[in-house]
Amino acid sequence: MQIIVAIDGPAGVGKSTIADMVAKKLEAAHINSGDLYRAVTYLFLQTGIEYSDEAILRIAKKTKFSISNRKLHIESIEKTELLHTDLVDSMVAKISSLPELREVINKQMRELCKNNKAVVEGRDIGTVVFPDTPYKFFLDASIKERARRRYNQGTSKKTLQELEETIAERDKIDKNKEKGALRPAEDAIYIDTSDLTIQQVYEKVLEIIES
Ligand code: C5P
Repeated sequence: MQIIVAIDGPAGVGKSTIADMVAKKLEAAHINSGDLYRAVTYLFLQTGIEYSDEAILRIAKKTKFSISNRKLHIESIEKTELLHTDLVDSMVAKISSLPELREVINKQMRELCKNNKAVVEGRDIGTVVFPDTPYKFFLDASIKERARRRYNQGTSKKTLQELEETIAERDKIDKNKEKGALRPAEDAIYIDTSDLTIQQVYEKVLEIIES
């Protein structure tokens, strides 16, 4: 039977950590929709060709995504770190704005989750990709708090101030992508995580799923 837990929210809010914890607990697959957009961006950059919508769509349609050991597996990408470089970061928000690309990726995700138990995180999972799932969460936090969390992860070379600016810019792009992007679904549970620990958010989410 298909069970989908949709976890949406802006960049740096802690979706991945929570989604991973919930997926482990439910013995479900964990799919970060951002990784599919990042993979297309990375593979496009690898080709070295000039940007065109056609090139992006060609790559998206050709790339094979699967689930193995409850994790997303992307053909020809062995290390997920490749998807998280500053270069991919700087391109992915723009590339993922292409409506036709979103259609291709959304279709791939629905296919991946067919008859599966999955925790899927992103910006539009509850509103666009799986609007019928009863388990929808929208995690939020202030830009300042999200920048601080990213900074403390130590994976970016940017200053705290630069991270705040990057996050604000990404929010702006993400909000304008499509109807439903970066907005909570009407029936989503909204959680402001600014003053909550990861464990508190996790417990809140789990309590609602299990109730
Ligand atoms: O979540 P993450 O930061 O890895 O996502 C990478 C990028 O992919 C984001 O900047 C966002 O612009 C885009 N994205 C999207 N729709 C989703 C998930 C991610 O447009 N459902």
